[in-house]
Amino acid sequence: MASTAQSVVGRLTGRVVSDSATRERARLPLWVLPVAAICLLAIYIVGYDQGTLLYAFLGESSMKFNFIHEFVHDGRHLLGFACH
Ligand SMILES: [Zn+2]
Repeated sequence: MASTAQSVVGRLTGRVVSDSATRERARLPLWVLPVAAICLLAIYIVGYDQGTLLYAFLGESSMKFNFIHEFVHDGRHLLGFACH
């Protein structure tokens, strides 16, 4: 299987590429997943939260006063998220 892939790459590029070099390119660095999760959480906090994140700590008042929404309100408008 590896020799087949290597020969295909060799035929397409006209050079010999080792199998380990091909595999190395396909790996993602370990920091990609935590950074992607943090970015998705930031997008949720800035763009979509309506009091849900703080409900466990503040109860109904988090939905009523919507603290996070008010804190990031200008940023939400700046980035073009639907707000009110
Ligand atoms: Zn607004």
